[in-house]
Amino acid sequence: MTTPEQDKTYVTRPLLPPLEEFIPYLEQIWASKRLTNNGPFHRQLEQALCEYLGVEHISLFVNGTLALVTALQSLRITGEVITTPYSFVATAHALVWNGIKPVFVDVVPDTLNLDPDRIEAAITPHTTAILPVHCYGRPCDMVRIQEIADNYGLKLIYDAAHAFGVRQDGQSVLRHGDLSVLSFHATKVFNTFEGGAIVSQDAKTKRHIDHLKNFGFVDEVTVVASGINGKMSEINAAFGMLQLKGIDEAIQRRRDIDARYRQRLAGAAGIDCLGGGPDDVTNSSYFPIMVRPEFPLSRDALYAKLQDNGIYARRYFFPLISDLPMYRGLPSANGANLPVAKRAAEQVICLPIYPDLAPEQVDFIADLIRR
Ligand SMILES: *Cc1c(COP(=O)(O)O)cnc(C)c1O
Repeated sequence: MTTPEQDKTYVTRPLLPPLEEFIPYLEQIWASKRLTNNGPFHRQLEQALCEYLGVEHISLFVNGTLALVTALQSLRITGEVITTPYSFVATAHALVWNGIKPVFVDVVPDTLNLDPDRIEAAITPHTTAILPVHCYGRPCDMVRIQEIADNYGLKLIYDAAHAFGVRQDGQSVLRHGDLSVLSFHATKVFNTFEGGAIVSQDAKTKRHIDHLKNFGFVDEVTVVASGINGKMSEINAAFGMLQLKGIDEAIQRRRDIDARYRQRLAGAAGIDCLGGGPDDVTNSSYFPIMVRPEFPLSRDALYAKLQDNGIYARRYFFPLISDLPMYRGLPSANGANLPVAKRAAEQVICLPIYPDLAPEQVDFIADLIRR
């Protein structure tokens, strides 16, 4: 059965302000002829994001993956890095692009974030860092992970691609660890078409990262490192400035949809909505449900049923990174080592959630699952 394109509901749709609002930004770029290389919009967006997110130092990037690769470079991470198999592939790929061996450690069932109780057992003399992910915008156990990093002299880099604007105890989660990496890809809560950033805790580190993302150039004739080209263009930065104006409202609408799903799915046998407790500080970037064995359909059968009805949900994250051909040979990729992540990869569906998803559509999806 095929459904007309306009009847399809995807897991996410980018937040796009009215086109006419973007025109004045483009006119400014055309007038200044500054297209990239730390132009006015780039500087404005760094400043505005520092204020909005509540951080001191931010370096914009062309995408989140190059930001991850550069974050690892900037701290000269080598050898082995402990990370989660339950993430988007870029988390592990960024390690491999630095010649680093990923060491997969299992996650905890409630947040699907790296399990602090299992990190120490995975540390070897080659371990240099920990790379956790704030999965679906739910903070890792940052205090415990920092303690382990300190005890073993490890660096700590958070993949915060899902955690735009997430705060815990009144403070941005991005203030934790040595560095945090954001993604501004079209599918994320805040997008610049493509884009990303590194949050640093001090000015010196930010300066070094800014050199690395610009081929290592410090000035016209001085190159201090074998850097890469990771610079965000003025068009993307300008779009970010426009996008930022509506971000609070967009996140509020996500929260409303999140609450509506929870209410509509409450008591559905075999369906668990992740999070939702009083301490849940997620930005509602995703709406993951676990399809338990008690549910009349398998996860994949429910996924297919949704699709037959024009609902294009996603099995984030399936397959597990550790089951992909380039990783499954690693000793830490053994499924027996990762039972919680394995189960999640077999049971989770992320339902559509985005600011202009209609409440009636949320009800339709929830009813479809209950039926
Ligand atoms: C989206 C994402 C990335 C990659 O970001 P891009 O901007 O698409 O390169 C990395 N890690 C996680 C967890 C992501 O969800």
